[in-house]
Amino acid sequence: MEENSKSDQQYGVQPVQLTGKSRFCFNCGPEVECFTKCCHGMEIILAPYDILRLKKRLGLTSPEFLLNYTIPKQHEESSLPLVLLKMGDDEEKTCSFLTEKGCSVYEDRPSICRYYPIGLATLKSQPDPEKEAAEERFFFQILEEHCLGHNEKKEWTVDEWRRDQGADKDDEMNEDWQAAFLSRTVPDKERGETQRQTLFYMTCYDLDTFRRFVLESSFLQKFDVDDETVEKIREDEDELLRFAMRYMKYVMMMEETMKPKGGVVEEWREKKAAENEPKS
Ligand code: SF4
Ligand code: SF4
Repeated sequence: MEENSKSDQQYGVQPVQLTGKSRFCFNCGPEVECFTKCCHGMEIILAPYDILRLKKRLGLTSPEFLLNYTIPKQHEESSLPLVLLKMGDDEEKTCSFLTEKGCSVYEDRPSICRYYPIGLATLKSQPDPEKEAAEERFFFQILEEHCLGHNEKKEWTVDEWRRDQGADKDDEMNEDWQAAFLSRTVPDKERGETQRQTLFYMTCYDLDTFRRFVLESSFLQKFDVDDETVEKIREDEDELLRFAMRYMKYVMMMEETMKPKGGVVEEWREKKAAENEPKS
């Protein structure tokens, strides 16, 4: 048996939590016999920063990208909307971005493709009910039979792999989106309301619509947003996404990331009180 053969190992997600310093052997590229075998039949969940980069690369608006390249799904535990990269309708369900030479969007490939064969997970634990739940981020390894990269001798730590694949910026930009799936600040019933679901979809995935919502609706009359931020939202899509995450946390996680203008909260309270008045 070859020294590095994985034939005696169980395939799938490995039940071992890894840290940034954990080591693993792997190599991938055109020189590996299985090159692009993994780009078929994958369930690729797109994070907000994946969508921003891919739509920019393809020269599309976010509604155009979402319509043509994705399918919607609902996250089971949180009921929040997810967006999956659409695979082709050929027998092998080939990724739309795969060409003979490899990935045609390689520099802007989704975070899941970047990380592979490492996965990133976040757990929320609350051993003391008096204290706020703590988030714990960890990594895990994915072994798949078709992937021969695990038999290569090149050794990495998880941190080296993440750096090599350019995953740091992805993690920074997608952190709040990931946290929303674990947040239970808003009760399940309210989180499932259509209005909240629509807002989550727009802030996380449909940034061009969110920009219009901020700049062309009464949004700026309701929230205190300084001129510099408004200018950045117009010009810079990374800043737009950061602002969208601020608003998403305000709505979905009830964090004080936005400042309503005077009178708006009172108006809202009056409206709620009127809604809850007993009907005669
Ligand atoms: S199957 Fe594994 S080694 Fe082969 S191309 Fe995909 S990730 Fe790389
Ligand atoms: S986006 Fe690129 S790397 Fe990811 S599955 Fe598609 S072709 Fe492969």
